[in-house]
Amino acid sequence: MLNALEIYEILLAAYGRPRWWSDDAFTVMFQSVLVQNTTFSGVEKTCAAIGKRLTPQYMERLSTQELEELITPCGFYRAKARTIQALIAWFRRYRFDPRGAQDVPTHDLRKELLAIRGIGAETADVILVYAFYRPSFVIDAYTRRFLSRLGHSFSDDTAIREFMVSVLPRDARLYGWYHWLILDHCISCCRKSPVCGACPLREYCERPAAERETASPGRQEKICYNTENIPPRRRTAFAADSGEIPPLHLP
Ligand code: SF4
Repeated sequence: MLNALEIYEILLAAYGRPRWWSDDAFTVMFQSVLVQNTTFSGVEKTCAAIGKRLTPQYMERLSTQELEELITPCGFYRAKARTIQALIAWFRRYRFDPRGAQDVPTHDLRKELLAIRGIGAETADVILVYAFYRPSFVIDAYTRRFLSRLGHSFSDDTAIREFMVSVLPRDARLYGWYHWLILDHCISCCRKSPVCGACPLREYCERPAAERETASPGRQEKICYNTENIPPRRRTAFAADSGEIPPLHLP
Protein backbone atom coordinates (compact mmCIF):
# COMPACT_ATOMS: atom_id res chain seq x y z
CA MET A 1 0.00 0.00 0.00
CA LEU A 2 1.24 3.48 -0.84
CA ASN A 3 2.49 5.75 1.89
CA ALA A 4 1.42 9.41 2.14
CA LEU A 5 4.43 10.76 0.27
CA GLU A 6 3.98 8.31 -2.61
CA ILE A 7 0.30 9.28 -2.90
CA TYR A 8 1.30 12.94 -2.91
CA GLU A 9 3.85 12.45 -5.68
CA ILE A 10 1.33 10.61 -7.88
CA LEU A 11 -1.32 13.29 -7.38
CA LEU A 12 1.18 16.07 -8.03
CA ALA A 13 2.38 14.40 -11.25
CA ALA A 14 -1.21 13.90 -12.41
CA TYR A 15 -2.76 17.24 -11.53
CA GLY A 16 0.19 19.61 -11.46
CA ARG A 17 0.93 22.22 -8.88
CA PRO A 18 -2.29 23.24 -7.13
CA ARG A 19 -3.25 26.76 -6.15
CA TRP A 20 -2.65 28.24 -2.73
CA TRP A 21 -5.75 29.39 -0.86
CA SER A 22 -4.74 33.05 -0.65
CA ASP A 23 -1.67 35.09 0.21
CA ASP A 24 -3.79 37.21 2.50
CA ALA A 25 -4.21 35.72 5.97
CA PHE A 26 -7.51 37.40 6.74
CA THR A 27 -9.01 36.31 3.42
CA VAL A 28 -8.18 32.70 4.34
CA MET A 29 -9.73 33.12 7.79
CA PHE A 30 -12.87 34.84 6.52
CA GLN A 31 -13.42 32.38 3.67
CA SER A 32 -12.71 29.32 5.81
CA VAL A 33 -15.68 30.26 7.98
CA LEU A 34 -17.94 31.25 5.10
CA VAL A 35 -17.28 28.02 3.20
CA GLN A 36 -18.75 25.88 5.96
CA ASN A 37 -21.80 24.12 4.52
CA THR A 38 -21.69 25.99 1.24
CA THR A 39 -19.73 26.02 -2.01
CA PHE A 40 -16.39 27.70 -2.50
CA SER A 41 -17.59 29.37 -5.69
CA GLY A 42 -20.40 31.03 -3.71
CA VAL A 43 -17.87 32.24 -1.14
CA GLU A 44 -15.64 33.66 -3.86
CA LYS A 45 -18.59 35.53 -5.36
CA THR A 46 -19.48 37.04 -1.98
CA CYS A 47 -15.86 38.05 -1.36
CA ALA A 48 -15.58 39.56 -4.84
CA ALA A 49 -18.58 41.75 -4.01
CA ILE A 50 -16.94 42.81 -0.73
CA GLY A 51 -13.77 43.69 -2.64
CA LYS A 52 -11.22 45.85 -0.88
CA ARG A 53 -13.34 45.97 2.26
CA LEU A 54 -12.20 42.44 3.06
CA THR A 55 -9.90 43.48 5.89
CA PRO A 56 -10.15 42.80 9.62
CA GLN A 57 -10.02 46.55 10.28
CA TYR A 58 -13.10 47.16 8.14
CA MET A 59 -14.98 44.12 9.35
CA GLU A 60 -14.47 44.85 13.03
CA ARG A 61 -16.14 48.22 12.63
CA LEU A 62 -19.32 46.67 11.25
CA SER A 63 -22.29 46.01 13.45
CA THR A 64 -23.40 42.40 13.68
CA GLN A 65 -26.34 43.17 11.43
CA GLU A 66 -24.15 44.81 8.79
CA LEU A 67 -21.80 41.84 8.78
CA GLU A 68 -24.73 39.44 8.51
CA GLU A 69 -26.03 41.33 5.50
CA LEU A 70 -22.66 41.13 3.77
CA ILE A 71 -22.39 37.38 4.15
CA THR A 72 -26.05 36.41 3.77
CA PRO A 73 -25.52 34.68 0.37
CA CYS A 74 -23.26 32.11 2.06
CA GLY A 75 -25.99 30.86 4.39
CA PHE A 76 -26.02 30.38 8.18
CA TYR A 77 -25.15 34.08 8.28
CA ARG A 78 -26.00 34.61 11.95
CA ALA A 79 -23.73 31.87 13.24
CA LYS A 80 -21.01 32.71 10.73
CA ALA A 81 -21.10 36.41 11.63
CA ARG A 82 -20.62 35.53 15.30
CA THR A 83 -17.69 33.27 14.45
CA ILE A 84 -16.07 35.89 12.21
CA GLN A 85 -16.38 38.53 14.92
CA ALA A 86 -14.77 36.21 17.46
CA LEU A 87 -12.04 35.34 14.98
CA ILE A 88 -11.33 39.02 14.36
CA ALA A 89 -11.10 39.65 18.11
CA TRP A 90 -8.65 36.76 18.37
CA PHE A 91 -6.60 37.95 15.37
CA ARG A 92 -6.37 41.42 16.92
CA ARG A 93 -4.24 39.90 19.69
CA TYR A 94 -1.62 39.40 17.00
CA ARG A 95 -2.07 42.86 15.50
CA PHE A 96 -3.84 41.35 12.48
CA ASP A 97 -0.54 39.94 11.30
CA PRO A 98 0.50 36.25 11.36
CA ARG A 99 4.03 37.40 12.14
CA GLY A 100 2.67 38.66 15.45
CA ALA A 101 2.15 35.01 16.40
CA GLN A 102 5.52 33.75 15.23
CA ASP A 103 6.65 32.89 18.77
CA VAL A 104 3.47 31.03 19.64
CA PRO A 105 3.80 27.24 19.19
CA THR A 106 1.45 25.73 16.60
CA HIS A 107 -0.18 23.54 19.21
CA ASP A 108 -1.13 26.60 21.28
CA LEU A 109 -2.40 28.54 18.27
CA ARG A 110 -4.55 25.55 17.35
CA LYS A 111 -5.99 25.40 20.85
CA GLU A 112 -6.82 29.10 20.71
CA LEU A 113 -8.60 28.68 17.38
CA LEU A 114 -10.54 25.64 18.57
CA ALA A 115 -11.76 27.64 21.56
CA ILE A 116 -13.65 29.96 19.19
CA ARG A 117 -17.27 28.95 18.73
CA GLY A 118 -17.80 27.81 15.15
CA ILE A 119 -14.17 26.83 14.53
CA GLY A 120 -13.69 23.09 14.31
CA ALA A 121 -10.57 21.08 13.60
CA GLU A 122 -10.81 21.37 9.81
CA THR A 123 -11.24 25.15 9.84
CA ALA A 124 -8.50 25.59 12.45
CA ASP A 125 -6.06 23.56 10.36
CA VAL A 126 -6.95 25.47 7.19
CA ILE A 127 -6.20 28.73 9.01
CA LEU A 128 -2.96 27.37 10.46
CA VAL A 129 -1.67 26.10 7.12
CA TYR A 130 -2.81 28.75 4.66
CA ALA A 131 -2.84 31.86 6.86
CA PHE A 132 -0.08 31.14 9.39
CA TYR A 133 2.09 28.78 7.31
CA ARG A 134 2.11 26.17 10.07
CA PRO A 135 2.36 22.46 9.30
CA SER A 136 -0.99 21.27 10.67
CA PHE A 137 -2.47 18.77 8.24
CA VAL A 138 -6.03 19.48 7.09
CA ILE A 139 -8.31 16.45 7.28
CA ASP A 140 -11.73 16.76 5.74
CA ALA A 141 -14.48 14.52 4.40
CA TYR A 142 -12.71 14.25 1.04
CA THR A 143 -9.51 13.03 2.70
CA ARG A 144 -11.37 10.40 4.73
CA ARG A 145 -13.33 9.12 1.74
CA PHE A 146 -10.37 9.00 -0.61
CA LEU A 147 -8.02 7.21 1.82
CA SER A 148 -10.69 4.75 2.79
CA ARG A 149 -11.30 3.86 -0.87
CA LEU A 150 -7.59 3.39 -1.40
CA GLY A 151 -7.78 0.67 1.22
CA HIS A 152 -6.69 2.42 4.39
CA SER A 153 -8.61 1.85 7.54
CA PHE A 154 -8.20 4.47 10.24
CA SER A 155 -9.84 4.51 13.64
CA ASP A 156 -10.11 8.32 13.69
CA ASP A 157 -8.63 11.56 12.38
CA THR A 158 -5.66 11.26 14.72
CA ALA A 159 -4.68 8.06 12.92
CA ILE A 160 -5.09 9.77 9.52
CA ARG A 161 -2.92 12.65 10.71
CA GLU A 162 -0.26 10.22 11.90
CA PHE A 163 -0.33 8.41 8.54
CA MET A 164 0.17 11.72 6.73
CA VAL A 165 2.74 13.44 8.89
CA SER A 166 4.87 10.40 9.68
CA VAL A 167 6.49 10.43 6.22
CA LEU A 168 5.96 14.00 5.02
CA PRO A 169 8.42 16.82 5.59
CA ARG A 170 6.93 19.20 8.17
CA ASP A 171 6.36 21.88 5.60
CA ALA A 172 3.27 24.08 5.53
CA ARG A 173 3.50 24.56 1.78
CA LEU A 174 3.44 20.81 1.15
CA TYR A 175 0.52 20.40 3.55
CA GLY A 176 -1.39 23.13 1.76
CA TRP A 177 -0.66 21.70 -1.66
CA TYR A 178 -1.58 18.20 -0.51
CA HIS A 179 -4.93 19.33 0.85
CA TRP A 180 -5.76 21.06 -2.43
CA LEU A 181 -4.57 18.10 -4.52
CA ILE A 182 -6.95 15.82 -2.62
CA LEU A 183 -9.72 18.33 -3.23
CA ASP A 184 -8.96 18.43 -6.94
CA HIS A 185 -8.77 14.64 -7.09
CA CYS A 186 -12.06 14.18 -5.28
CA ILE A 187 -13.82 16.67 -7.53
CA SER A 188 -12.32 15.22 -10.72
CA CYS A 189 -12.20 11.46 -10.08
CA CYS A 190 -12.85 10.24 -6.57
CA ARG A 191 -16.36 11.68 -6.41
CA LYS A 192 -19.26 10.25 -4.46
CA SER A 193 -19.73 8.04 -7.50
CA PRO A 194 -16.08 7.61 -8.42
CA VAL A 195 -14.82 7.86 -11.97
CA CYS A 196 -11.97 5.37 -11.68
CA GLY A 197 -11.01 4.70 -15.30
CA ALA A 198 -8.76 7.74 -15.59
CA CYS A 199 -7.68 7.87 -11.95
CA PRO A 200 -3.91 8.18 -11.54
CA LEU A 201 -4.15 5.92 -8.48
CA ARG A 202 -6.31 3.19 -9.94
CA GLU A 203 -3.60 0.54 -10.01
CA TYR A 204 -3.02 0.99 -6.27
CA CYS A 205 -6.64 1.39 -5.21
CA GLU A 206 -8.36 -1.37 -3.30
CA ARG A 207 -11.88 -0.34 -4.15
CA PRO A 208 -13.42 -3.44 -5.69
CA ALA A 209 -13.03 -3.47 -9.48
CA ALA A 210 -16.77 -3.97 -9.99
CA GLU A 211 -17.52 -0.75 -8.16
CA ARG A 212 -15.08 1.21 -10.30
CA GLU A 213 -16.98 0.67 -13.53
CA THR A 214 -19.15 3.72 -13.11
CA ALA A 215 -18.50 5.66 -16.31
CA SER A 216 -17.55 5.03 -19.88
CA PRO A 217 -13.81 5.24 -20.72
CA GLY A 218 -14.34 8.26 -22.97
CA ARG A 219 -16.06 10.24 -20.26
CA GLN A 220 -13.46 9.25 -17.70
CA GLU A 221 -10.56 10.53 -19.80
CA LYS A 222 -12.31 13.80 -20.41
CA ILE A 223 -13.08 14.44 -16.77
CA CYS A 224 -9.57 14.04 -15.46
CA TYR A 225 -7.25 15.25 -18.14
CA ASN A 226 -9.06 17.62 -20.45
CA THR A 227 -8.10 21.05 -19.10
CA GLU A 228 -11.45 22.46 -20.20
CA ASN A 229 -12.98 20.35 -17.48
CA ILE A 230 -10.56 21.29 -14.75
CA PRO A 231 -12.33 23.49 -12.21
CA PRO A 232 -11.44 27.19 -12.67
CA ARG A 233 -9.42 27.37 -9.46
CA ARG A 234 -6.91 24.92 -10.97
CA ARG A 235 -6.09 27.47 -13.63
CA THR A 236 -5.58 30.25 -11.09
CA ALA A 237 -2.03 31.52 -10.68
CA PHE A 238 -0.26 30.01 -7.72
CA ALA A 239 -0.47 32.89 -5.30
CA ALA A 240 2.14 31.59 -2.88
CA ASP A 241 4.86 31.99 -5.50
CA SER A 242 4.84 35.67 -4.70
CA GLY A 243 4.44 35.13 -0.97
CA GLU A 244 6.79 34.76 1.91
CA ILE A 245 6.91 31.05 2.40
CA PRO A 246 10.15 29.42 1.30
CA PRO A 247 10.44 27.02 -1.65
CA LEU A 248 9.58 23.44 -0.92
CA HIS A 249 12.35 20.89 -1.15
CA LEU A 250 11.19 17.33 -0.95
CA PRO A 251 13.80 14.89 0.32
S1 SF4 B 1 -9.52 4.27 -8.35
FE1 SF4 B 1 -11.53 5.19 -8.02
S2 SF4 B 1 -12.02 4.87 -5.85
FE2 SF4 B 1 -9.81 4.55 -6.13
S3 SF4 B 1 -8.88 6.56 -5.68
FE3 SF4 B 1 -9.22 6.45 -7.88
S4 SF4 B 1 -11.24 7.40 -8.23
FE4 SF4 B 1 -11.07 6.90 -6.03
